[in-house]
Amino acid sequence: MTNPPARIPGRRSLHSPGPTPLPDAVLHAMSAQPMDLADPRLDANIAACEEGLKRLLHSPGADVFMYAANGHGVWEAVVENVAAPGAAVLVPGTGHFSESWAIQTEALGRRVVRTPWREGWPIDAAAVEQALRDDRQYAIQAVFAVHTDTASGVTSDIAAIRRAIDAAGHPALLVADVVASLGAIPFAMDALGVDVAVGASQKGLMCPPGLGFIAVNAKAFALAGANPAPRFYWDWVRRRDALSYRKFCGTPPQNLLLGLEAALGLIFAEGLEAVWARHAQLAGAVHAAVEGWREGGALDFFAQEPASRSHSVTTITVAGGIDVDALRAVARERFQVAIAGGLGPLTGRAFRIGHLGDCNPAMILGAIAGVEAALLTLGVNVGGGGTARAVRSLSSQP
Ligand SMILES: *Cc1c(COP(=O)(O)O)cnc(C)c1O
Repeated sequence: MTNPPARIPGRRSLHSPGPTPLPDAVLHAMSAQPMDLADPRLDANIAACEEGLKRLLHSPGADVFMYAANGHGVWEAVVENVAAPGAAVLVPGTGHFSESWAIQTEALGRRVVRTPWREGWPIDAAAVEQALRDDRQYAIQAVFAVHTDTASGVTSDIAAIRRAIDAAGHPALLVADVVASLGAIPFAMDALGVDVAVGASQKGLMCPPGLGFIAVNAKAFALAGANPAPRFYWDWVRRRDALSYRKFCGTPPQNLLLGLEAALGLIFAEGLEAVWARHAQLAGAVHAAVEGWREGGALDFFAQEPASRSHSVTTITVAGGIDVDALRAVARERFQVAIAGGLGPLTGRAFRIGHLGDCNPAMILGAIAGVEAALLTLGVNVGGGGTARAVRSLSSQP
């Protein structure tokens, strides 16, 4: 391919499911000069981020730990804090992200029990319950559940997993990965009985990549304190400290924290319910477009059940012979819409449209139309088309 032009006119639409576009207010907040480590403004900024995350997670009593790390970093922090060396965790199958977390957990010397992943379907809570019933010695210390698997575009029911753990009478902690769901759909940590929630900055939270966070309830914190696994940088006990230098085990990532405070402010100013409703509306427009495209026989939803289709990202499978990399290149370079490819077992078999974070109807219509133009450029049969369906979907909603 020829070199991309140095400058594009207008803005490129970023519709990967993370990183997502940054609101101007977040960019501006991040453009501040760093502060000396004793500056009270730094402490106020950190406190605002902690309070905002607890409010967003609906867990006022949780401890929040933030790391200069991406999602994989906070995955590792969870493993090192909750699982003793040689202990087991249960990872219910959701696809690429559950499998990646499982492999990372095994690399850290823990045993992983998996429930099977059924392609296109959410977590099978009955399989979780059975796996816990089979664990008569309570070797499993935690269940690591991915709320929205960003590769499959499927959201699982965390309440059903809580019920499965309770029905089995098993003491395992419930850990939820909300990296792709927080700020897009309702999530209430305490009400759901989630002991540990894991998130990152660059998806629904409208910040750049590089900041991970974990909310921990009292039960999980106590278990972590008794866990003999060797650790330092990730250690929750060490990080529960009033001093910002200790909270971050070193210099806090100040400009990311300034961005996060601004982003949380935007979310609360819009109103959480309104943010969720907007995500539902935009997801509905993308889903309507796919309903049109699939009539051509070349494209389809990967998520089988309409109710579990994510409000953050839609994964669209392609018929054999369609080159997903070429589609992405044409969409990005010719129509200025950046979309994502398939991951793991879906590599080459699917593409993904992100619709989370700082997104509105005009942006999503531009993305859908740009993708449709790229599909037509490659000669893909798009049936009656998806763009008009998306327009109708948006105009039929209040
Ligand atoms: C993106 C994502 C991750 C990994 O985050 P990175 O920042 O890329 O390491 C983990 N879990 C889920 C559900 C994600 O969507």
